[in-house]
Amino acid sequence: MMDYRERINLLMKLRDVVRANEKKIYKALQDDLGKPEFEAYESEIGLIITELNYTIKYLSSWMKYKTVPTPYFHMPASSMVYREPYGKVLIISPWNYPFQLTLIPLINAWAAGNKVTLKPSEITGNSAKLIYDMMTENFHTSRVRVMLGGPEVTMDLLDKKFDFIFFTGSMRVGKIVMEKAAEQMTPVSLQLGGKPPCLIDDTCSLKAAAKKIVRGKFMNCGQSSLAPEFVLIDEAVKDKFITYLDYYITKFYGKDPLNSPDYGRIVNLEHFFRLLDLIEHQEIIIGGDFDTYQIKISPTVVTENSLCSDMMKTEIFGPILPIITYRTWEEAVDRIMRFQHPPAMYLFTKDKNHEEFIKNHYSAGSICVNDVLMQAMTPYLPMGGVGSSGMGKYHGKAGFDLFSNVKSVMKRKSRGENKIVYPPYRDKLKWLKKLLK
Ligand code: NAD
Repeated sequence: MMDYRERINLLMKLRDVVRANEKKIYKALQDDLGKPEFEAYESEIGLIITELNYTIKYLSSWMKYKTVPTPYFHMPASSMVYREPYGKVLIISPWNYPFQLTLIPLINAWAAGNKVTLKPSEITGNSAKLIYDMMTENFHTSRVRVMLGGPEVTMDLLDKKFDFIFFTGSMRVGKIVMEKAAEQMTPVSLQLGGKPPCLIDDTCSLKAAAKKIVRGKFMNCGQSSLAPEFVLIDEAVKDKFITYLDYYITKFYGKDPLNSPDYGRIVNLEHFFRLLDLIEHQEIIIGGDFDTYQIKISPTVVTENSLCSDMMKTEIFGPILPIITYRTWEEAVDRIMRFQHPPAMYLFTKDKNHEEFIKNHYSAGSICVNDVLMQAMTPYLPMGGVGSSGMGKYHGKAGFDLFSNVKSVMKRKSRGENKIVYPPYRDKLKWLKKLLK
């Protein structure tokens, strides 16, 4: 089993490797997704380095076994919780944040002492190839292997025996992964998509909300599983909010966002045409421009009247933001509750009651009040979905725990034990009831 020193050495080396490859990572992300360097650092490299620093700092305390109390009935004894690696772990990643969605699970899995096989997405081929080079040139295959290729490679891997599978991607493929894992009784963590709602009431600062939503929604050209999929806003303030959205889209990306160096592109033509189909019959309020040659769609805001349209039934996963209205808070709650269990949910409000209601009654992988995406960019908060958006939390200590078997150990003393547990029981039940009450 990998000891503390070996794990730390791997993590410190990975930090050096990521830093040494910074320029190559920018280039791969530019080629695959047109990602500006600032976004590449903020949402990929920076997150990986932060996760590494945090893990390196706390790993020794996470690895120590923890002593817990022992019930009186079991005395004399001591109880401890150990964490051991699962063994061989498979990590399957999507294309939208190809580095951090591959390397943060790797950091968590290594911290827990596992051997890892990585399967990056074939769709962002430059990033996948760079991950392959970074790993094969710097780490022994007994610690990490990288398998390049598409679904057929994943299917081959799923036929092999792993001790834990970590999958990030669509619900469709998540179901395949879970089915294959079930054949071998392999535990899985699934990080899936969904439709994160963004609820805005009439008490919040509309200007600040618009600013934050434009930044979070159109980062990575809207291709973020945690970005708001739709806005649900009080009818009374909708027009004002749209004016602010328009203002910030122009302020951030200029009058011609398709040619802004700060705006990424759609990953490929298949997704590009899928997104254009979605807005074909929609009432477009802002944007709607596109450039097939650059595979770009400008930040687009549309009105949506039905909760059952194609737009509302599928994951948009692109730079299109539907706006839906409500008249009363009760109506807003009724509508939002139909979209339970997304990977994230956003609320813009100054009303404490609204905030408390959502935090206590709305089920989502994560909630952020008065901003978007920020809750996912910290190693202190566990990250992961619930229900249809997945299972298992990672990042930081949660990630260390996810990739560990939490092993309970009780050490009993052979002398001084309670003898009433042994047959014949006779009239011992009344004593047992006194002990176990
Ligand atoms: P995907 O499910 O199509 O692919 C994910 C991985 O599975 C890739 O490595 C791919 O090669 C493999 N794969 C694809 N089809 C397969 C098949 N038929 N059999 C076996 N393996 C197959 O997902 P994607 O398009 O790469 O990513 C987008 C999806 O991922 C969205 O649904 C998004 O919401 C989700 N996502 C979720 C999170 C999260 O943290 N919850 C983060 C990023 C992306």
